[in-house]
Amino acid sequence: MLPLTRSLPSLCREEHLASGHGPAPVVPLVPGIWRIPLLRDFVNGFILRDDDGQVTLVDMGVKSSGPKVIAALGAIGSAPSDVTRLVLTHAHPDHAGGAAHVAARTGRSFDVHEDDARFAREGTSPPRDRSFLLGRLFDRVAGGQAFTPVPVERELTDGEVLPVAGGLRVVHTPGHSPGHISLLHEDSRLLITGDAIFNVRRLRWPIRAFCTDFAMTKRTAAVLGELDYDVAAFTHGPELRGNPREAIRGFLARERVG
Ligand SMILES: [Zn+2]
Repeated sequence: MLPLTRSLPSLCREEHLASGHGPAPVVPLVPGIWRIPLLRDFVNGFILRDDDGQVTLVDMGVKSSGPKVIAALGAIGSAPSDVTRLVLTHAHPDHAGGAAHVAARTGRSFDVHEDDARFAREGTSPPRDRSFLLGRLFDRVAGGQAFTPVPVERELTDGEVLPVAGGLRVVHTPGHSPGHISLLHEDSRLLITGDAIFNVRRLRWPIRAFCTDFAMTKRTAAVLGELDYDVAAFTHGPELRGNPREAIRGFLARERVG
C-alpha cells in the first residue's frame, strides 16, 4: 500500500531517480545548450552543440560523474565521437574529477585557463586561502593528488572567444582558483558563472575555505554584473531565467561588490 503521507509527484520523482538506467537527464537551457545535473542540481556540467553537430563539454563533476557526462550525450542524440572540445572552468575535484574518464572516452584533451593548467595536469587543487583557519587546515591535510591528472591541450586567456556554437567568451574570474573562468555565450545570451557565484537555495559566494583568495573571488565577480545575458547557469545550483542580470547585480550590490 502506498503511504498516504507522500504525494504522487514526490513518488514519481523518487521512481525517476531510483530507475538509474538509460540516458542521464539533461536540462535544456537555450537551443543547443544543456545543463547536465551530475549530483542533482548541486554539481553541474554543460553541453554546447554547434549546428553542424560538434559538441563542446564544460566541467565534468566529481570522479563518478564521468560516465554520467557520456550518458548525457546519448540523451541529446550525440555520441562521444561528436565531441571536439572539452573545457574546465577550474581545476577542482568536483569539476575535474570526471575529466580523465571523459578525455579517454572522447579521445580529446582539455582547454583550461593558463593559471589553472598546471594544477589540472598534476591533478592537484590550487592552494586554499590561508587567511582562514579552515583554508589553512585544508591546505595542510588535502595536499597531493585531488583528482586523476587531466590532459590539457590549450591554455586559455581572458577575453578570448572560443569557436563554439557561434562564440564562447572566456571571462577570467580569478580568486576561487587562480585560473577560474566564467563563460559567456553571446549568441544565446547565456552566462555560465562557474564557481564565481553559487545558486544553492539563493545566490551566494562559494565556500571561502575552498577559494585560493576569497577577497579576490568577491572582487572579480563584479564583472558578472556588467555582462549581457538572459540566462545565468551555475556549476552549483539551478539556472536563473527572467532577469538574472538584475538578480546578480542585486546580489553584488548587497555584498558591496563593484
Ligand atoms: Zn571550485
